[in-house]
Amino acid sequence: MVQPYNDRDGFIWMDGGLRPWRKAEVHILTHALHYGSSVFEGQRAYGGKIFKLTEHSERLHKSTQILGFTLPWSVAEIDAACEEVLKANDLTDAYVRPVAWRGSEQMGVSAQQTKPHLAIAAWQWGKYFDEKKANEGIRLDIAPYRRPAPHTAPVHAKAAGLYMICTISKHEAEAKGYDDAMMFDWEGRVAEATGANIFFIKDGAIHTPIADVFLNGITRRTVIDLAKRRGVEVIERRIWPEELGGFEQCFLTGSAAEVTFVKEIGPWRFTPGELSRQLRGDYDDLVHGR
Ligand code: PMP
Repeated sequence: MVQPYNDRDGFIWMDGGLRPWRKAEVHILTHALHYGSSVFEGQRAYGGKIFKLTEHSERLHKSTQILGFTLPWSVAEIDAACEEVLKANDLTDAYVRPVAWRGSEQMGVSAQQTKPHLAIAAWQWGKYFDEKKANEGIRLDIAPYRRPAPHTAPVHAKAAGLYMICTISKHEAEAKGYDDAMMFDWEGRVAEATGANIFFIKDGAIHTPIADVFLNGITRRTVIDLAKRRGVEVIERRIWPEELGGFEQCFLTGSAAEVTFVKEIGPWRFTPGELSRQLRGDYDDLVHGR
């Protein structure tokens, strides 16, 4: 059994300073818990250095702004706090989780009087997907839910509320023996997995959905740059399910998932090949500063 996340040794940065891990608590009448007024980040540290730290802190700020609240800590202060958490917990290779939320000063849909909060935790986290499975490719189900249309939800915020349909979809996939689920967007085009972006390879070119209705991942942008540096053509476009049979390779990208090969999506099959492996290697080299 995994040690519960509320019952561990170490320190969590919360609202301006470090606290003993078990004392980083919120009250039950916290607005975020009832109404989803919470946003978060997820980044990895490699050899003591957090990859693209400032981009993550900037996205956290942007997410709070989209939800209508402002953190009293600057991006530079959040960067410093993330680094402080790593050091305090004696971690070099770890997952770092900043989370920002509205407090308990007001209940009801309106939250004008709530205070903004920020906490940052870090822990050792191995591969997001089983490493052995991921090497030959994980299996994705088709999610029962679609990514919401941009006029129905704040799709560019990394907002906790957007993950409700991801957890339901992932649980349904796991119950059927799959590792994760692929979600279509509201129009039925390929979008992403429940916590990672998706890429396909055909005839030496990379195809990936345009990230205008879901999170344009920091890893997604990094891998696109790495592919272009190799001289590989990257085509961002609408991808319809009818085309999935024509792709040879498929992989996911995310700060937690890194580059993870996919061998199956519902009825479609893929085989991780040379280019997928090269890009996974390039990403690994980059995050390790090689
Ligand atoms: N989409 C979703 C739904 C995610 O949760 C994540 C992980 N944050 C991503 C895409 C990938 O984003 P990033 O590469 O910035 O981690």
